[in-house]
Amino acid sequence: MTVSLVRFDGSVDSLRKAIELSGGFEKLNQNDRVLIKPNNCFRHKIMPPYGMVTTTKIIEGVVQLLLDHGCKHISIGEGAIIGIFGELAPYTKQGFKGTGIEKIAKKYGTKLVDFNTGAFNELDLGGTKVQVSGAALEADFLINVPVLKTHFQTRVSLGFKNLKGCLNKESKKRFHTSSRLDPLICLLNEAIKSDLVIIDGIYMLEKGPETLAGVAHRKNLIIASPDIFECDVVGATILGVDPAQVDHLKEFAQRHKRSFDISAIEIKGERIESLKEQLEWRFEPDEELLGPSKITGLSAPYPGQTLCSACGATLALALSIFGKDNPEMDFGGAAFYYGVGLKPAEKKEGTGASPTKVFLYGDCGVRSNKNLQNAVKIEGCPPTLTETLFALMKALLSRPRMFRMLLVRTMKLIGIRLGVYHEVFPRWERYRAKEFDKTHF
Ligand code: SF4
Repeated sequence: MTVSLVRFDGSVDSLRKAIELSGGFEKLNQNDRVLIKPNNCFRHKIMPPYGMVTTTKIIEGVVQLLLDHGCKHISIGEGAIIGIFGELAPYTKQGFKGTGIEKIAKKYGTKLVDFNTGAFNELDLGGTKVQVSGAALEADFLINVPVLKTHFQTRVSLGFKNLKGCLNKESKKRFHTSSRLDPLICLLNEAIKSDLVIIDGIYMLEKGPETLAGVAHRKNLIIASPDIFECDVVGATILGVDPAQVDHLKEFAQRHKRSFDISAIEIKGERIESLKEQLEWRFEPDEELLGPSKITGLSAPYPGQTLCSACGATLALALSIFGKDNPEMDFGGAAFYYGVGLKPAEKKEGTGASPTKVFLYGDCGVRSNKNLQNAVKIEGCPPTLTETLFALMKALLSRPRMFRMLLVRTMKLIGIRLGVYHEVFPRWERYRAKEFDKTHF
């Protein structure tokens, strides 16, 4: 099959060209039930969306081209990460609203599907039972529209990884806690077939998956193919990540006898050589989240793959806020432990002294360190942002400072809710530049 590489020129024409060059609509029938799956996994109005979630510009273009093709049954589906603000918040709906997808759906009469609300079908992925959105399984034509981004656990988050959003909440967790994240991503993509993959590379993200630690760059590229493997191999190569080192691609290549030889892939449009970047995919959470606020003595080391996106996103947001509210403070060697089976002693390996204070984060972190005395346990699956922030303040700040910070933070949160205060973290200043175009969302 063909992979197309087309420069995004601001109009729907570049998307049309990318789809045409790849032969993306060749098997699409007008009566097909079409499902568009963007990456809209988490979107809060305070977070810069660039490189983190699929642009609405591309989603609108896909809808327009489907309508031009004569398609009548078009849905856009996503299942956003649940838990950051408690269980009950309508995360997917907020995500659709936050990126402007809700407006697009209204404008074109497109149906929105929240995968989190079901219905689900049970699948057995090599012995791991998971619940997968029925809407994703039943679509006649699935258009998978990920972002061109790196990921600190799976190296890249492209077409394969984007389908993890089709799982219910517990199954998403199981992908991580089973310690089989990459093999399960591979098997999931055997169960749900993407008929067309369009990688939205208007922006790309280094140190992904989100813009708290990640750094977005403008790229102006669209990558499209009916072959998800070839599309992801090309996407990873452009990001500067060796696709043969991406474990879910490696697993798929082994199972389906596919090759990583890029010269064997038919590429139409731009030359891949001229598009290659060298982006970092891995990062240490404490350096990226607390470093900009010059916080010292509080570590949150690389968690491996067993930390779920829900715990990861909540903790990233909490550490960023805590760092911003308490700049240049030293916390004397406190450390966070999270995920499954990681013990403080292992975490501190090679770093010398034991931590002065240990936070066990999430039910997994608590369960994995049951015998540890005097640790601060932040329970929950995941703990909420409020619980996490409060635990940090209580354990690390003096009483007077804690009450002062609680008051200030409460007022800021009310301000954010009312739309009169806009939180900006130090590394977000870069998104004021012209290349980051708000009208793409
Ligand atoms: S505690 Fe966190 S890491 Fe563990 S299963 Fe729950 S969300 Fe995932």
